[in-house]
Amino acid sequence: MTSGSAPTAAIAPVLPTYNRAAVSFERGHGARAYTPEGEEYLDFGSGVAVNSCGHAHPHLVKALTEQAEKIWHTSNVYQMPGQTRLAERLIAHSFADTVFFCNSGTEASELAIKMARKFHAASGHPEKFHIITFTGAFHGRSLGALAATGNDKYLDGFGPPLSGFDQVEFGDLKAAEAAIGPHTAAIYVEPVQGEGGVMPATHEFLRGLRKLCDAHGLLLMLDEIQCGMGRTGKLFAYEWAGIAPDIMALAKGLGGGFPIGAVLATANAAKGMVAGTHGSTFGGNPLATAVGNAVLDVVLADGFLDNVQRQSLNLKQSLERLKDLHPTLISDVRGSGLMMGLKCKVQNTDVQKAIVEQKLLVLTAGDNVVRLLPPLIVTHEDVTEAIAKIERALVALEHAKA
Ligand SMILES: *Cc1c(COP(=O)(O)O)cnc(C)c1O
Repeated sequence: MTSGSAPTAAIAPVLPTYNRAAVSFERGHGARAYTPEGEEYLDFGSGVAVNSCGHAHPHLVKALTEQAEKIWHTSNVYQMPGQTRLAERLIAHSFADTVFFCNSGTEASELAIKMARKFHAASGHPEKFHIITFTGAFHGRSLGALAATGNDKYLDGFGPPLSGFDQVEFGDLKAAEAAIGPHTAAIYVEPVQGEGGVMPATHEFLRGLRKLCDAHGLLLMLDEIQCGMGRTGKLFAYEWAGIAPDIMALAKGLGGGFPIGAVLATANAAKGMVAGTHGSTFGGNPLATAVGNAVLDVVLADGFLDNVQRQSLNLKQSLERLKDLHPTLISDVRGSGLMMGLKCKVQNTDVQKAIVEQKLLVLTAGDNVVRLLPPLIVTHEDVTEAIAKIERALVALEHAKA
């Protein structure tokens, strides 16, 4: 039976918008995930930088189950003590004065865009609503976040993109300056581009953008949805450049697997966001913030980020060695912290497939890159094992080519 006039072809029960691998996972522990058949995979994808504390971290499990037995959801029409506590802790460890909680990265990007526009409207300049973004960006999939992303591949067929986004070359400070006009409200940038190909912005570029924003009265907005929450070895990636943004979007690692996003802002940048200007039914509910607080307990514990930095160096040096040994397959190793990319000389999906066949989960990214996002709890032994698997995969690929 069809509701329209023409018969429709069969469609998968879940809307088929993903290219899914055939494998599924039933449980996980630390840096490892297991199929229903009990096959063990080392997980260097972390659900795309989400499982920051690995799988089934006992402290997170305890926080979630204890909260689940108390109350799951109330509403943002009531006081939310867990939310306030998480906000206060994020503020204490960042540039920010205030936090809004949502459920995803896309929603965080969406509010960042709205907040920048509202800031200028509240300052008497509603005509300032344009946001400068960069090639290779990824900010999410809502119509606003998609317009900020500015990638034709994702925009095609969805009608006219939301206006007010001016995209320039990533890393090109002169182009960013030239794009500033009387309509410009803000600059939105990932300190380390994730989906675009694991491409860190240079410190000079980020400092230059900060200076441009200060000189022109613009807001600097950072998308740390993927690179934040300890991923680069500091709690936030902007700390490496010695600058601070006005607005920052977070999600992915913040909930360690529980969906939660956040927008952090200075009091000044947030001045237009008064009661009634934004909201979310689910955003920052008791379950989400109980887990978010537990993630912070883990990531802020003494020595945790030191381990991220140590394993990052270890991983990077080991990958550099593999690049030198396999110059026909790998041309570059790049990234920051535990966010690493292998730029491939053959199809990245072929390299990914060969690595996954060795039971190591890795991802791809733009610019023909294989992306590694191990959980932040990764050990020296895990990295050694991962490198051995990648090496076996590269050797297998070379034999297949020969
Ligand atoms: C994943 C991601 C988003 C979108 O987050 P969702 O939770 O998928 O909506 C936005 N920006 C960056 C940098 C991301 O990595």
